Amino acid sequence: MLEVSSVNSFYGKAHVLNDLNFSVARGQVVALLGRNGAGKTTTMKSIMQLVRPRSGSITYQGQDITRWPAFRVARAGLGYVPEERRIFTQLTVLENLEVGRQAPREGCVTWSEDMLFDLFPNLAERRHNRGKALSGGEQQMLTIARTLMGNPAFILLDEPSEGIAPVIVEQMARVILQIKNEGLTVLLSEQNLHFAQAVADGVVIIEHGTQKFTGTLAALQQQPEIRDAYLSV
Ligand code: ATP
Repeated sequence: MLEVSSVNSFYGKAHVLNDLNFSVARGQVVALLGRNGAGKTTTMKSIMQLVRPRSGSITYQGQDITRWPAFRVARAGLGYVPEERRIFTQLTVLENLEVGRQAPREGCVTWSEDMLFDLFPNLAERRHNRGKALSGGEQQMLTIARTLMGNPAFILLDEPSEGIAPVIVEQMARVILQIKNEGLTVLLSEQNLHFAQAVADGVVIIEHGTQKFTGTLAALQQQPEIRDAYLSV
């Protein structure tokens, strides 16, 4: 569904992504793993065209989306949830969801507020509270819920478990599996292998913007030296 081919991305003169090559099949959850500063966020931004790859290409559902404006990438069905939570703090939970609403997309789930409240029971209880009254974990959930209101076919989640309480991390894993069950394809970035193990089918490990491993979780288990070299467990 998504193909990243020989992608090189830079910030000015700094060469941050070095010839990345991986693909994400429809209906799969792929975890992009690597330590702080490995280039996970830059990979996601390069897919969304928020950072322009200097060379290489990104293909989505057979279309070359490289150099498309980011809004067009989003319109094509890619939903991006950045690491920093992006909610409207002065709006209520319901109003935040309303802001994210987009037209139904053929072949994709059309999310309603009620479906999202089933997925995120904490948000249901807080539906009339303003964004600023939510905990960090709830704000993270609301950012994901609002992105789902756009009815994406493919969702990119940048470090969804970062900085949230352990009990919410468990809920987050359950949410990702439910999103997958609804037919969405997921690319998530993560520093911690433990969380990825709970949700991912495939794994891509990067270090200093260079790909070090690509394969299934089962294949990674067979190579503990890779895990130890590039990940925090
Ligand atoms: P984190 O876990 O901290 O989010 P990451 O794996 O997502 O890390 P990136 O944020 O993609 O890593 O950063 C990759 C490299 O690019 C790092 O060395 C970082 O310092 C550098 N970098 C990130 N953003 C910029 C920027 N706007 N300008 C210059 N360098 C940047």
